[in-house]
Amino acid sequence: MRLKDQERAKSFLEKLQSQGKIPNALLLYGPPGVGKTTCALELSKGLLCQRGAPWGCGGCASCESIESVIDRILLGEWESISLFEESAGRKVFLYLSGEHPDFIFVPPDGTSLKIDQIRGVREFVYRKPALSGRKVILIDDAHLMTREAANALLKVLEEPPGHTHFLLVSEGKESLLPTIVSRTHQVELSPLDRESFYELLGEEREDLYRASGGSVKLARELREREDVLGLVEDFIEGDPRKVLSLVQEMEKRDLEDKLLFLRFLEDRVRETFLRRELDYDRFEAMVRRIEEIRAGLRRGLRFSLAVYSLYSIRR
Ligand SMILES: [Zn+2]
Repeated sequence: MRLKDQERAKSFLEKLQSQGKIPNALLLYGPPGVGKTTCALELSKGLLCQRGAPWGCGGCASCESIESVIDRILLGEWESISLFEESAGRKVFLYLSGEHPDFIFVPPDGTSLKIDQIRGVREFVYRKPALSGRKVILIDDAHLMTREAANALLKVLEEPPGHTHFLLVSEGKESLLPTIVSRTHQVELSPLDRESFYELLGEEREDLYRASGGSVKLARELREREDVLGLVEDFIEGDPRKVLSLVQEMEKRDLEDKLLFLRFLEDRVRETFLRRELDYDRFEAMVRRIEEIRAGLRRGLRFSLAVYSLYSIRR
């Protein structure tokens, strides 16, 4: 088990596993970056283990083959994992063929999970397990399913073959079809505490913990773009000279960087509010203005005007 935190969720799942009572459909939900996907991957390993160890024994053929898959997924290398292709040559969904025949990992294709991907899942489900006694389908970011995809999935969930387990990972329950949610057993994962966060991030960075609100996923992104993060901090600090120079700097950047600045800023504003350093009215006004600016920038709004209008709310 790689998770350092989430003791409650972990012991609950372990109990179900050891009693052989893992339901056919499980929904793991919670904020981004708290280890939902990792938890679902580890659970998959256990479900498929030939020796029935709750989190996998690590030594059987199933565990060995899924471990390399897990490593590659966690490293974000799913591009390099073979894609399943229909006879027409159309890429349908990520199918880890040849790595573990009874496991598929289904992440969004671009910005959404599409119906073609779920059709692929249905084909997979009705084949008999090859290596393990079960089959596991991990649907990542399930909240990004299109309406059609969700309806297609619902049909399979209504009558799942006994040997299959659906693990749905989602940032929230609300953004899923209620009919899907009601067919799953739900497990909530909570935000990470500082210690677990530092351990997963690999360094003690108080600034990243605060800026990301405890999301390791977001913190890794922030770390990649420390230049933009630094400018966001200048804005939050509020020194007018710094704000002026950050505006001049950002004006030179492309739209993508400007949008990134706004995204980081929004997270930071939310976090400032949660620490009660910003009252609700200003928080709400800022979030609303950020949303308007986002749309405005795409239409050619000048970044300096946008930031000054935010700055006037901030003060
Ligand atoms: Zn095993």
